[in-house]
Amino acid sequence: MLQISGLSKTYPNGVQALKDINLNISNGMFGLLGPNGAGKSTLMRTIATLQDADTGSILFGDIDVFKQKQELRQVLGYLPQEFGVYPKVSAEEMLHYIARLKGIADPKERKELVKALLEQVNLYNHRSKSLGGYSGGMKQRFGIAQALIGNPKLIIVDEPTAGLDPAERLRFNNLLSEIGENIIVILSTHIVDDVSELCNDMAIISGGKVVQRGNPDELVLGLENKIWTKRVKKEEVAKYQAEYKMVTAKLSGGSMMVYINSDTDPGNGFKSEKATLEEIYFSNII
Ligand code: ADP
Repeated sequence: MLQISGLSKTYPNGVQALKDINLNISNGMFGLLGPNGAGKSTLMRTIATLQDADTGSILFGDIDVFKQKQELRQVLGYLPQEFGVYPKVSAEEMLHYIARLKGIADPKERKELVKALLEQVNLYNHRSKSLGGYSGGMKQRFGIAQALIGNPKLIIVDEPTAGLDPAERLRFNNLLSEIGENIIVILSTHIVDDVSELCNDMAIISGGKVVQRGNPDELVLGLENKIWTKRVKKEEVAKYQAEYKMVTAKLSGGSMMVYINSDTDPGNGFKSEKATLEEIYFSNII
């Protein structure tokens, strides 16, 4: 269990990135969903011992993360948002190198591990290629391979699918979904579908605060029969926003669809629409 209590952080420029974050996270895939600037990376980097908070504490089992950074690092697999690779080194060489750094000293054991990881992330056929020639999706799968070295109990992946094309994203998410259920995987993302596809538990973070928390399906049930849509002209959106409890307005087939939240049939040409996690997201972000 990962227990985050009263975590706050203000950067020297005065930006308050985290405001009293409290979260208990159990084994399984946890989605941390929020818009750009919400504080996701700050939180991920703090859990990963890469930066300190001003107040609060993080416990991972018996490990007090702020006081026992080295202990936490030994059980952590981390795929940062900006994952730099040495462009001229091959995936196989790089994994050997990282495995050695993580303390896997026996060459035979290391060789078997590197082969198994390359197979797991479907890069074995590209193992000798230099990392500089990898596509975005291949780099991210390589990033997961390096994060898995040393049997981590806690894996943090920060915005891993941003910039991937749909096929690469699918392949990457399939890979994530195969990582054991007996460890905690925290997936930080601004992509709602990543969370609805992968996570059994989630939080929405916005403006440095946790604004929603729970199981994605149960959260969506809370909006059942409450979402109504109507196709309108772009210039009418502001009028609808003033008149109704608007959740979002988005382009669909070149025109505008407004989504509103109403317990009863609002009439006026609105149709009932099945609620999704996207409406939960837009109802909660500030
Ligand atoms: P997210 O990952 O959700 O996009 P971040 O944690 O990167 O959010 O950023 C949260 C807020 O903190 C933003 O307003 C961002 O501009 C600010 N911020 C992030 N890193 C720094 C930093 N090193 N110095 C100052 N402000 C920062």
